[in-house]
Amino acid sequence: MLNASLKQLATQLLEKKISSVELTEAFLKHIKSLNPELNAFITINEEMSLAQAQVADKMIASGQAHPLTGIPVAQKDIFCATGWLTTCGSKMLSNFVSPYDAMVIERFNQVGAVNIGKTNMDEFAMGSSNETSYYGPVKNPWDTLAVPGGSSGGSACAVAARMVPAATGTDTGGSIRQPAALCGISGIKPTYGLVSRYGMIAFASSLDQGGPMAKSAEDLALLLNVMVGFDERDSTSLQREPEDYTRDLEKPLGQLRIGLPKEYFAKGMSNNVASAVEAAIAEYRKLGATMVEVSLPNTKLSIPVYYVLAPAEASSNLSRFDGVRYGYRASRYTDLEDMYKKTRAEGFGAEVKRRILIGTYVLSHGYYDAYYLQAQKLRRLIASDFTEAFKQCDVIMGPTSPAVAFNLGERSNDPLQMYLSDIYTIAANLAGLPAMSIPVGFGDKNRPVGLHIVGNYFKEARMLNIAHQYQQVTDWHLRAPVGLFEAK
Ligand code: GLN
Repeated sequence: MLNASLKQLATQLLEKKISSVELTEAFLKHIKSLNPELNAFITINEEMSLAQAQVADKMIASGQAHPLTGIPVAQKDIFCATGWLTTCGSKMLSNFVSPYDAMVIERFNQVGAVNIGKTNMDEFAMGSSNETSYYGPVKNPWDTLAVPGGSSGGSACAVAARMVPAATGTDTGGSIRQPAALCGISGIKPTYGLVSRYGMIAFASSLDQGGPMAKSAEDLALLLNVMVGFDERDSTSLQREPEDYTRDLEKPLGQLRIGLPKEYFAKGMSNNVASAVEAAIAEYRKLGATMVEVSLPNTKLSIPVYYVLAPAEASSNLSRFDGVRYGYRASRYTDLEDMYKKTRAEGFGAEVKRRILIGTYVLSHGYYDAYYLQAQKLRRLIASDFTEAFKQCDVIMGPTSPAVAFNLGERSNDPLQMYLSDIYTIAANLAGLPAMSIPVGFGDKNRPVGLHIVGNYFKEARMLNIAHQYQQVTDWHLRAPVGLFEAK
């Protein structure tokens, strides 16, 4: 059951083979046995989860079931949820119990899904390894010496270790896709604006986007059906006709043109990642797709551009954490200014402070034109590369991450090395494009490899179709790190 798809779970619930309370209890038990070692969850609240499960059972009994009714979903601790501790992985919010629900949480509540806990993450979603969390690093369930990726590392780990059938993540520069790749699961960052950012604690607002993380593309489609929707409380939320993201899953792939950017297959990618990605591409050829060489000449600029723009927006967004209204406040201070200083010095970790410093610098008088404005112009060029490429192909494929999961501690003292983990994922955020990662095998030390698929705006249903067809002929997405939990 821990390995079942969302559809299988829904059928069992509907046919009353199992109740939501039983299902929730089973996953909670599994979480309790694994979490002390893996640290995927910051908060578990059995009472609240089971109360939701009871409501779900009533919905099912009265014939009001939605495909996700009664199914446990883990929520990244960046989403505000009423009555739940909502920390964003930071000491700054270590005492913050949210008085309201994020739109994403509201949506899951409306369909009767069960919030099974809040997952660990890099502090304020800044990081690529989950090591900047105030609550300590998460371990990769495939190899506990390795990082799970970040910043949605807790969600990725929880799904990979089958502690939960599905989870949410957020992706500013790769934080859904990169941990999905490193933990061998599937994840999608939708087109910017599709999932409301209301109640999702802001990192870099023009890049942040919520999305689902699960075992398969089919599961992602069911989750997206719940998460996507217009919300007037988010000024960048898109007003569009609702779509059924499962509608194209079963379509054959004939006529599919896959763009392979020559820049992606250049130096930098480790051989073991390249061979898994190439094997996946060969599989797509067998499924009838044709390959087209495309070029994304500004790819190399995406890291410098992102690391100007994201910190600039973060420095502004994080100014609200001042110890006055909510969150952490230093216990000793002399006057108001000293209270601000001590609160922020004690409440934020090193990586967050680094971003605030960089962001404040690039926005300051005299540097704004040289850095911030320049980065905005380059952002446009990066987006135009994709517009050109999509004239020749339907989707772009490549590796999600240049290497498999690295060891805990290996890059935590070298921010630049850490930033390079995002080379393949960041451009999609800068352009606002939908992008996903699916598992396609194992590389060095038997650690998972992810295939990155970028689509044109609003092509989520097509991308999920492309991923699903691959998952019909392969079984990477069904593999779990068995040794870790079957013995327990
Ligand atoms: N790793 C990137 C960063 O540190 C992306 C994080 C994210 O997508 N939230 O900013």
